[in-house]
Formats: sequence, C-alpha cells, structure tokens
Amino acid sequence: MTFWPQKLMAQNVPDIAFLGVCERSAQVTDANQLLAHSILGLKQVVLSHIFPIPLKGFQFAFALYDPPNFVPAKVYIWSPTGKELMKFSMKMEQIDTPTNIADGQSEDLIKPIYAPVGFPTWMFVVPTTPPDVNVLAEKPGLYKVTLRRGKDDISIGCIGFAHVPAPPLTDDRIAAIRSSPHAAKIVRMSLACQNCNDGLRFYAGLEHNEKLKKDGWTWYSELPASFKCKCRRTEIDLGILRDNLHGLLGLTTERRLDISFTRLYEQSVLEVTCNRFEALLNQKPDEESVQKFIKDNPILLNQFSPERIFYKPPILSRYEGDIAILNNKKELLLIELEKPETRLLIKNGGIAAPMQHALDQVRDWLHLTDRHRSAVIEGIGLEPNEVTSVKGIVILGRDRNCNAKHLRKLKWTGFDRTTFFTYDDVLKSLTSLIRTMAPL
Ligand SMILES: [Zn+2]
Repeated sequence: MTFWPQKLMAQNVPDIAFLGVCERSAQVTDANQLLAHSILGLKQVVLSHIFPIPLKGFQFAFALYDPPNFVPAKVYIWSPTGKELMKFSMKMEQIDTPTNIADGQSEDLIKPIYAPVGFPTWMFVVPTTPPDVNVLAEKPGLYKVTLRRGKDDISIGCIGFAHVPAPPLTDDRIAAIRSSPHAAKIVRMSLACQNCNDGLRFYAGLEHNEKLKKDGWTWYSELPASFKCKCRRTEIDLGILRDNLHGLLGLTTERRLDISFTRLYEQSVLEVTCNRFEALLNQKPDEESVQKFIKDNPILLNQFSPERIFYKPPILSRYEGDIAILNNKKELLLIELEKPETRLLIKNGGIAAPMQHALDQVRDWLHLTDRHRSAVIEGIGLEPNEVTSVKGIVILGRDRNCNAKHLRKLKWTGFDRTTFFTYDDVLKSLTSLIRTMAPL
C-alpha cells in the first residue's frame, strides 16, 4: 500500500528548473557500478575580466521533474536586452539500460540515468552547448532563462554575468605572472560576424609581438571602441575588452573560452633554470648574485603563490627588504635573502649567529609593520585593505652544510610569524613543480 499520492505534480509549476552553469560535469560510474553525476563549480554568477565572453563550452545545469512523463519543450536563454541567445530542445529519450548512455551525441537530448517508477522526482541534467554554437554574452548583466510551454514563456531561473576589472599590468603584477609555470604570455582572441564572416583578431601579451602584428593581430588596447561588421548585422562593444584583455594573462585555466593561450614556460626551459640555479648556488655566490638570479627567474618564487611581487621594497624609511610578495591569500610576505653559505647551526645544534641575525632582521620589520601598518603597506605600493596579514620569510644556507638531524629540528622549529627556507628547499620546490607540469 502506498501512503503518498500517486501524482505529486503541482499545477502551474514549471517542470524544469535552471540551476546555474558548472565548470565541469560528467556522468561517472562509482566503485559499485552506480552511475553518479559529478559536478564541479556550479554557480549562478559568472565573473569575467572580459566581455563579450564566448558561451561555447559552458555547461548549463537543469533539474527536470518527473522524467518519464516529461513533455518535450524548449528552453531559451535571453540577453539583458531581451535578445534570444540560445535555445535547448529538451526531450526524453527512451533507453533500456544505463550502458546505452555512452553514445556521446545529441546534446539536445536528456537521457535518464535512473528514473524511479510511480513516484515523481527531480532529475539532474547538463546539456552541453553544442560545439558549433557561436554565441557571446556581450555585456555584464542578468541573463534570463525561460521554458516555453505552448504559448507561455515561464521563468525558470537566471544567470548573472559580472565584470571584474583586470588589475593593471604593473611591474609587480608582471613579475607575479612570470612566477607561474602555467602563465600565459600571450592571449589571442577573435570575433566574427556569423553572417558575413567579417571579424577582428586581437591579442594581449606581456609585451608587443611583431610577428602577430605582421599576421594581422591587433594589440588589444588599440582596438576601436566598437566593431560593426560589413553586413551591419553584428555590432559589438569592445570597451571592456580593450581595457581588460590583459587580465587573462597568467591564466591558462579558462580553456572553455574560445581563446588561445601561448604558454610562458616550457618544461625544458624550467629544467634549465633549475640546473643553472643549482650551479650558481654551488659557486658559493654572494647575496647580490642570488637576488639578481631570482629577479630574472621569478619562477623560483612560485611556491609563495604571488599575485604581486616587489623587489627591494622599502620598509618605512628605515629598512629595505629584499622581496615583498602579496600572495593569493592576500598575505604580505616580507622576504629576507642571505647568501647560500650563511651558517645556520653551531656544533651542538643551536642557532648560529648569522642565522639569528637574519631572523632578528625580519622580526624588526614585522615589529615596525605592527606599529605602522598602513604606512608600511602603502610604502611598498599596496593599499592597507588589500592585505590580511603580514608574515616574514628568511631564505638562507644550504642543507649539506648542516648536520642532518640538527637541520631537521631547526626546520621543525617555529619562529613566530617567520618561516625559514634553505636554498635547497627553494630548489626542491621548483623540481617538484616541473614534475607536476602537464602539457598545455
Ligand atoms: Zn556581418
């Protein structure tokens, strides 16, 4: 005997809900051979440095009510100005067993993974934008999603596109981009009218590129304010693009975008850097040579996750740091570099005077920062509200110059807000970074 109604479907309630867009979604089989829907990054607001933004590759997530009784319908996505951007045809396709799912075609069809009988329920579906769709979200705003049933357009959700201004391409920002192994040095993008094919090709880079220029690619900030194609059907505002395309430099994660990236580093180049750094360290160089090498090869600072890097930052008028980094947690790291041959330990395992001197130095900086927070942060070139906390880092010495047991203990010891690394730690971190680098 059932104690719930056979049919729970309420009248006048849409039988599709729009949930948002997700970064990735897949139907996967778990260890028990059960099918599951794996979804990554479901969101209702898409943040972007640039507009227009191509919608190709976006995955739109829906929930569908009572799949066995679902009547085919169309779902529309509308621009903030009321222009129809895209539509999905939604209909059920009968399949017998879940194994038939893997035919990998007809994006418009919804395929039930598992539909319980006799008790209506919601099912999750993610139709992918067909690859031939060439649609742009032209400007920030609220994009409405509707379901068409007969003559009615029923609201089933919306997706917000918001513009995040790209940080200016200052020296400290460029240094941080160069510290990332996955950084893009060039971002290329093209837009074309679907009707007459008239279009634009343009790029942003860490610097101008003569070859691209010769091949007809325009430097992004030299784009006109808007583009109107020959047949006059396509008109695109380029204002946001020409002020912000550089915001995609340093990123290579946005692969769904119809934008191509040229990687800044190849794995082999990093291996060479690694070997050269080790050779330099083995020559027992002075502090200045090491500083210069790191400045020329900021990839060595990648382990600190920099968003901005400042060399020789003033710490009020009293001191000068070697490097300051604003990391991705908005922590300001004040870094003191000493020469690789700096003595770390004395015979009985205690801290040697040169190591203590470096720690004291950084402690003085932190002390001064605590007392004059805003002035120190502004002096470096940041706004006080950009920084959540200030920490110290000391890089000095070589592992091989130390008794292994004493060194382990030293690395385990905490020094309040200061962390210490040997140059071997820096080398090791670059080595493991190279290992993790996958081809773009
Ligand atoms: Zn045209």
